[in-house]
Amino acid sequence: MAIRLSERVRRITPSSTLAMDARAKQMQREGQDVVFFGVGEPDFDTPEFIKDEAVAALRAGMTKYAPAAGLADLREAVCQYLYKEYGLSYRPKNIVITCGAKHALYNVFQVILEPGDEVILPVPYWVSYSEQIKLAGGVVVPVMTTAANGFRMQPEDFAAAITPRTRAVVINSPNNPTGAVYSRAELLAIAEIAVRHDLVIVSDEIYDHLIYDGLAPTSIPTLGPEVAARTILINGVSKTYAMTGWRIGYAAGDEKVIAAMADLQSHSSNATTFCQKAAIKALLGPQEAVEKMRAEFARRRDLMVRLVRETPGLDCLTPQGAFYVFVDVGRLIGRTVAGETVRDDEHLAEIFLEKAKVAVVPGAGFGMPNYIRLSYATSCERIEEGFRRIKALLAGG
Ligand code: PMP
Ligand code: GLU
Repeated sequence: MAIRLSERVRRITPSSTLAMDARAKQMQREGQDVVFFGVGEPDFDTPEFIKDEAVAALRAGMTKYAPAAGLADLREAVCQYLYKEYGLSYRPKNIVITCGAKHALYNVFQVILEPGDEVILPVPYWVSYSEQIKLAGGVVVPVMTTAANGFRMQPEDFAAAITPRTRAVVINSPNNPTGAVYSRAELLAIAEIAVRHDLVIVSDEIYDHLIYDGLAPTSIPTLGPEVAARTILINGVSKTYAMTGWRIGYAAGDEKVIAAMADLQSHSSNATTFCQKAAIKALLGPQEAVEKMRAEFARRRDLMVRLVRETPGLDCLTPQGAFYVFVDVGRLIGRTVAGETVRDDEHLAEIFLEKAKVAVVPGAGFGMPNYIRLSYATSCERIEEGFRRIKALLAGG
């Protein structure tokens, strides 16, 4: 018997970042030496004192269900953290703990969208937003950005995309996949438009601590009470503390929206109890490891940007945040690489993986073909090795 899948699930595309990672890891298991520029995941291990806290929590018997909205202590810790980092004054009732930031985003769209509601999404965007919006019955309204404007959505383009059906806008600064960082003034201009049109701002700030060139991140709710009231802030411990596998994220914002997200979780699932305990330690414990990792990412970024620019056929802007370089491969489309005429960015990514054993993510999944995304969450040695292979491949024709 062929079991028919639901229409809503048939309309989604599986995550290209995770698909590429699964393929590359499979090749590695088969004994191939793959360079991983694919998935965005810190290669560092979680700091030891955070792991110790999880072990202690397990030993203390924290093996039972946690409340659907998250441990009270962690919700309180998130409030303290957001106050310490940004001067934001949330109460625990404004915070819900989720299974990673991805889950927080999924839940937000589920609780705020009616079928047909439009969500404005600056392009390129992280692969999961578009599919999560569709799963919630929403309609994605893409707003293009260009390299010339640093891949940052221009306020006039944003305003022009708004219709009576627009319900929300997603802002992700620092951005995945471009590393673009919006200035406070730019965010204010966007937020003012959102206020004028009564839109929800979904602000994904997961890369706020991975920021370079002496820049400081702007948290959107700090732009004023009117902005804060309509912003759902998304963050988590995955990137900042190298805790991707722990699956702890959170959302902060309007009490009713947060309560609805917790109610939704009460019927699906919620974050692991002892991992939540460790997340408190991550947020409120010593922060030295964060700065060490950030400084290392900055070094890798400089190396990767130099290598991209040295490679004929490739070009990029200097990203100011996150750990990705978004590479323009437009000049390679139609050219012969490894004996094949390159059809598009997806084909090029395929050739890189098959012929050079370098995993990258095609731009198409981010809504911007003719680009590929390279993650520099890997060592300088592997970055050098990856580029030796890419250069050799491209030089070979
Ligand atoms: N937002 C962005 C922009 C991301 O790149 C990611 C990838 N991890 C997430 C959210 C999801 O984070 P988490 O691993 O905490 O689910
Ligand atoms: N967010 C990371 C990425 O874009 C991790 C994978 C995922 O969750 O999509 O590669």
